[in-house]
Amino acid sequence: MAAEEAGPGLEPEPEPEQAEGGGQPFPVRPSSRRLVVPASWLSPSGSLPPELGAWFPRLEELDVSGAGLSALGPELLGLGRLHTLLAKNNRLGGAGSLPKGLAGSPLGLALRTLNLSGNRFAQLPEPLLGLRGLRSLSLGSNRLQSIPAAIQGLSSLEFLYLGGNFITSVPPELANLPSLSYLVLCDNKIQSIPPQLAQLHSLRSLSLHNNLLTYLPREILNLVHLEELSLRGNPLVVRFVRDLTYNPPSLQELAGRTIKTRNVPYVPNDLPGNLLRYLSLASNCPNPKCGGVYFDSCVRQIKFVDFCGKYRVPLMHYLCSPECSSPCSSASQSSNSQSESDSEDEAIVAARRMQKVLLG
Ligand SMILES: [Zn+2]
Repeated sequence: MAAEEAGPGLEPEPEPEQAEGGGQPFPVRPSSRRLVVPASWLSPSGSLPPELGAWFPRLEELDVSGAGLSALGPELLGLGRLHTLLAKNNRLGGAGSLPKGLAGSPLGLALRTLNLSGNRFAQLPEPLLGLRGLRSLSLGSNRLQSIPAAIQGLSSLEFLYLGGNFITSVPPELANLPSLSYLVLCDNKIQSIPPQLAQLHSLRSLSLHNNLLTYLPREILNLVHLEELSLRGNPLVVRFVRDLTYNPPSLQELAGRTIKTRNVPYVPNDLPGNLLRYLSLASNCPNPKCGGVYFDSCVRQIKFVDFCGKYRVPLMHYLCSPECSSPCSSASQSSNSQSESDSEDEAIVAARRMQKVLLG
């Protein structure tokens, strides 16, 4: 980046000028569009000069990384052209680390890229959550323990980096970010991924390495644009797990299954609206030898699916009944040839879709 090549201080524009009457101890060029702030500019309390916004009104990129900063204050709120703010490796994270009113300020409306990696945030800071124009947010190597559901407010987000935190779970609301293309959740303590993530239709890269995952939701196969999936360093299950919790289907479900599997014809005038809606919610049993459907009652099963003929990834499956599960699940130990032949169709689909799965 040009700002980094320039080293600490101002970008190499000709003849840096002294702004008149400012009294600041360094050269100021009000037309500067990029600025790297050296630690020497900070006050003893670790904050930026309060006049910063006034000195550099045309600023588009600001780098205050590694400056020992403990707060970004209101001095930045008026920077209506600043689209990139880099504040990596500081001491941000306490109360008031980010200015109040950020989302509605000129800065909040202009900001597209915000990097707060290497700080001390234990929660996603509240002032960030209203930044609807933000496209790239990095909060790697902080102290985050969770991702708030309100993250769905960052509706323009394309890149989200939360690697190297202490996150234990992923909220389904994360799936409500329609433009998200790169999601990095590596090096956390995540135990499961919500199936809703399959709604991230723009997702191209998903980094999940070094977590506590034992399986992935089967729905991940629906991520048609996913090109890269990293899973190494997870305790992915090495044998089939049989889940014995199975609530027998209700009479309504049994009737619905029969209507669907036998293709009993019906038109809207035949049935009340609630039953029509119910019938539309049938899920196909993933067992290729079954051809059945289920509604609410199903059996959870973890099954390995081959990706690219090289890797076997454990996916969560929902089968229509215990009888339907392949013989391997009743064996409850390690894989066998039956499971692999069941996986063939999915393997073909997966190989087409996934160009790169990183397990090792
Ligand atoms: Zn079935």
